[in-house]
Amino acid sequence: GDFAEEIDTLVVGAGPGGYVAAIRAAQLGQKVTIVEKGNLGGVCLNVGCVPSKALIQAGHRFHEANEGAENMGITSKGADVDFTKVQEWKGSVVEKLTGGVESLLKANKVNIVKGEAYFSDKDQVKVSTDEYSSQTYKFNNCIIATGSRPVELKPLPFGKRVLDSTGGLNLEEIPKSMIVVGGGYIGIEMAGAYANLGTEVTVLEGENRILSQGFEKQMTQPVQKKLKAQGVDIQTEAFAQGVEESEDSVTLTAEVKGEEKTFEAEYVLVAVGRRPNTEELGLEQIGVEFGERGLIQVDEQSRTSVDNIYAIGDIVPGLPLAHKASYEAKVAAEAIAGEAAAVDYLGMPMVVFSDPELASVGYTEEDAKEAGFDVKSAKFPFQANGRALSLDVSEGFMKLITRKDDGLVIGAQIVGPNASDMIAEAGLAIEAGMTAEDVAMTVHAHPTLGEITMETAEAALGMPIHIT
Ligand code: FAD
Repeated sequence: GDFAEEIDTLVVGAGPGGYVAAIRAAQLGQKVTIVEKGNLGGVCLNVGCVPSKALIQAGHRFHEANEGAENMGITSKGADVDFTKVQEWKGSVVEKLTGGVESLLKANKVNIVKGEAYFSDKDQVKVSTDEYSSQTYKFNNCIIATGSRPVELKPLPFGKRVLDSTGGLNLEEIPKSMIVVGGGYIGIEMAGAYANLGTEVTVLEGENRILSQGFEKQMTQPVQKKLKAQGVDIQTEAFAQGVEESEDSVTLTAEVKGEEKTFEAEYVLVAVGRRPNTEELGLEQIGVEFGERGLIQVDEQSRTSVDNIYAIGDIVPGLPLAHKASYEAKVAAEAIAGEAAAVDYLGMPMVVFSDPELASVGYTEEDAKEAGFDVKSAKFPFQANGRALSLDVSEGFMKLITRKDDGLVIGAQIVGPNASDMIAEAGLAIEAGMTAEDVAMTVHAHPTLGEITMETAEAALGMPIHIT
């Protein structure tokens, strides 16, 4: 039946955008309802960030156990992996986190509604629980966070052996061979994980190098080198043109640097981007305006062209990343509560969990120059850091971008072990408006990888201690 219920803030979608928005709105005193048609936690917790990192970790552990460390005198007798158990463990990590989201929503008195939302008006959604039943909810404000789904390539329709990232994460056995179409961060993370688990991996990338979006060539080179050392075949300027699936394998044709080539593997994994879930919500009828590629247009408070409706995460422009969704979520919830919140993307980090890891925040040197800054960039290698050497992981470097006249930190990039965690400090420096001198004069414990950040800042000042 249609029972109208009065709600302050209604959130559609319970991914890292939606569930964070719901909690923050509730913390700010709003009566909140969240609608989710699938699992709490969205893509990120169920079939994205979390399970992929679990799989990557399993790959690392297996690879390390297998390789030993000859330089340290540690030899290995050959490790074994039970992939069913890997999948069970990965599932248990996901369950803990999604269960945690449910408890948090309940603890914040957020009403959780299971079903698919459709906007029947500017202040109401119809939620269908199945084909036959639906309920209407009236709201004062709404935050849409319906996320995205994998792009399907026409010549490579998804099937039993042509997988999207979700299929790639949920395989029951370690494939003998896999072709990864797309050398972006999802493709490269999956390629690295499976290569570590013993899969023969081929990567097809359309550009002339992998991870070309957001990272300078210098930074992606160590990743490419490592993948090659793991036996990954990287084909650049390669465009997949068709597949033929047989009982136990798949043949893929591609144009590689202008020549036709065929590749055969057990599976093809397509990771060529994601499409926003914005088509089937009834948004056009209520006047929500769209920009490019099905993305919803929003202002700096994440407000759409309809006054009381906000949109966040993968359905709006910007990096399609979980922490970006959560950030916009908090801003939108605060804006609804009447606070003067606004988004500022300069401190938005971007991380690739490759080997070694890649991370970037703020401007790259190139972007800063294009934006008209007179910049000074400084570099410091992991090799010159005691902690990195004692961890036996010394490949990589940090690059710090500062404004020449006053030393203001405006960007940082790291390629190296733990780059994902290290980048947070540079983000804080940018957010807090710190100069290279502020960072350089912050005492960092010894021996830690964090000292690399301090020394890169010293290098920016022209006085690094441990390099010449
Ligand atoms: P989503 O997480 O997609 O959640 C949207 C939710 O809305 C879904 O649960 C969906 O069921 C629900 N929904 C949709 N339509 C309706 C409707 N009509 N009614 C009700 N509910 C609806 N990001 C990172 O930052 N770091 C990473 O390491 C990372 N790794 C990734 C790895 C993979 C393999 C993938 C695929 C993605 C990864 N991402 C990562 C990206 C990240 O998952 C997304 O950016 C993030 O999930 C976006 O959050 P969101 O809240 O916008 O949407």
